[in-house]
Amino acid sequence: MHIRDILSGPGPKFSFEYFPPKSPEAAESLFRTITELQRCDPAFVSVTYGAGGTTRGATHGLVLRLLQETRVNAIPHLTCVGHTEAEISSLLESYAVAGVSNILALRGDPPKSGGGAKGDFPYAADLVGFIRRFSERHGHDFGIGVAGFPEGHPGTPNRMLEIDHLKAKVDAGADYICTQMFFHNGDFYDFRDRCELAGVRVPILAGIMPVTSLAGLNRMSELAAGARFPARLLRLLARANGDDAVVRRIGVHYATTQCADLLDHEVAGIHLYTLNQSSATVEIFHSLGLRSPEAAVS
Ligand code: FAD
Repeated sequence: MHIRDILSGPGPKFSFEYFPPKSPEAAESLFRTITELQRCDPAFVSVTYGAGGTTRGATHGLVLRLLQETRVNAIPHLTCVGHTEAEISSLLESYAVAGVSNILALRGDPPKSGGGAKGDFPYAADLVGFIRRFSERHGHDFGIGVAGFPEGHPGTPNRMLEIDHLKAKVDAGADYICTQMFFHNGDFYDFRDRCELAGVRVPILAGIMPVTSLAGLNRMSELAAGARFPARLLRLLARANGDDAVVRRIGVHYATTQCADLLDHEVAGIHLYTLNQSSATVEIFHSLGLRSPEAAVS
């Protein structure tokens, strides 16, 4: 089912993000996580893709396994940096044959070494247009999501230009936006308003990642370059004095209050970055009173 159709239904939706496991043990652990989190009844789950194709087989394998063995609506991420049209076509063909309905179309980040990043797609908008044309040619209508950056993308300091680039992705055929994680809801509301003003009128899912450790916080600041950690969050975490359990409790509580506020402000959906763990997400669901994961076992 297309995400645009899911999002057009009543009420905000939840989705979860996973990354492909690196070993058979990690795969089994991830399947336990996915099974547990299915009790929260996500609208869909998405599986990340290593830019340049580093997890090409693993992403593809996990998405197909999810489709075959579970009732999860699984969406592959697909980055175009370093890829040729032939490579992208072959992946899309395989997803179409497997019955995958949606793709999250991204550029990805070129390798820091700078080598080997050239490909047929300079930007995600080019990939979106390619997927649309592929859909028309092959009679398989992929739904397409794209990335948005409430705190701004580091590659485009000019915020007006950045929204133009986002609009280009929607004009090329994207039907929803999923945002990078953010820690200050004001950034999301401002981003949503700027999208509206620029005529970007597709549903926007808010990306939320609970801080569960100080090491994780540092990794996030590396991965989501430019991530803005508000003083309020840092002050709360400082009070934990490095106690891992307290850091985790504060991080999950902070993410829960972010989610509650987003739900109060008519968010179209919340995309939780799970880091392949279930407990923080389950706690957030409990605290929001959305659904009792234990009671919802099917
Ligand atoms: P684009 O939309 O192409 O934008 C990249 C930069 O180029 C921006 O600064 C933009 O303003 C600028 N730009 C766009 N068009 C033009 C133009 N015509 N001229 C000049 N500048 C232009 N990365 C992964 O490797 N794997 C993943 O699975 C993955 N999943 C993600 C999921 C989400 C929800 C998000 C938010 C990010 C994800 N990323 C992933 C990270 C993403 O690939 C990087 O942040 C990347 O730098 C930007 O990707 P994009 O699709 O937004 O690119």
